[in-house]
Amino acid sequence: MACLDQDEDADVDACAECFVLLDAASAFVPCASCAGVAFCSVTCRNRAFQSHHKVECSAFPILKASGLVHMPLALLALRAVTQKTPKFFMDNRTKFESHNVRTGGVEEELHDGKVYLSEDYENLFNLVTHEEKREPIDLTTKAIFAVFLMCCIKSAGYFKD
Ligand SMILES: [Zn+2]
Ligand SMILES: [Zn+2]
Repeated sequence: MACLDQDEDADVDACAECFVLLDAASAFVPCASCAGVAFCSVTCRNRAFQSHHKVECSAFPILKASGLVHMPLALLALRAVTQKTPKFFMDNRTKFESHNVRTGGVEEELHDGKVYLSEDYENLFNLVTHEEKREPIDLTTKAIFAVFLMCCIKSAGYFKD
């Protein structure tokens, strides 16, 4: 994930909003506040700030210092949260809590030839976890990461809106 995953040795990265590749010869738009991302255009920078980057930008220094910027799955989880507001999750809480654990909430739609939509949070919530097959140390580590990420976005003001 290119959102914050900046490999200092790489000379190619992607726009933190649309993921178009940026190389050393590309003109890019930096974030005005952090060194964690680059954008292909002002439009992408503005769109990112209206969505997720406002929170991720403030959290970037601690995420970089912690090494989590090099963990794509942690960043993916972070982005899944930061691109929506706390109100969105509270408004949809009942829907997420009452999902069908075997099929998720989209079985009928899939039988109609439809596909999972990446922006559908019900699908995201219903992803298979294989929790029963994972080692306790793995589950414990991921739980610690989740709490750490929550503290990062809390300190970045995510819950103030
Ligand atoms: Zn872009
Ligand atoms: Zn930034």
